[in-house]
Amino acid sequence: MYAYDNQNVFAKILRGEIPNKTVLETEHCLAFEDIAPQAPVHVLVIPRGAYVNADHFAAEASDAELADFARTVGRIARDTGAAPGSGGSGYRVISNAGPAAVQEVPHYHVHILGGRPLGRILQPA
Ligand code: AMP
Repeated sequence: MYAYDNQNVFAKILRGEIPNKTVLETEHCLAFEDIAPQAPVHVLVIPRGAYVNADHFAAEASDAELADFARTVGRIARDTGAAPGSGGSGYRVISNAGPAAVQEVPHYHVHILGGRPLGRILQPA
């Protein structure tokens, strides 16, 4: 059901085959700067495991992986200064899955965006 392509760019980053600007490493996750930032804060968080998207991760990841991922996202939001609870002006977490959402990299990831007004989540169709 979930066919994982181990030649995707984030798999290569995890194997150390291409460089990245690491923000945080945990037991189950890696967080790094997006190569084409859309906002002053644009960090990607990925699990180390081979998951294609959010529903794959939710279905098959262990509780430890799920917890580590959620806590890493929260920690990045706070550490970048974007989190409202830490005095920041806010942030957005986005995860694209499949062609309708224009997912470019088939390894599960979330984008954490902040540092500027982000507008509404979607433009009218
Ligand atoms: P998505 O459309 O959600 O799959 O977005 C993939 C994201 O990965 C885009 O925002 C790209 O700019 C980013 N990206 C692609 N290659 C790299 C790379 N080598 N290092 C960091 N970010 C990357």
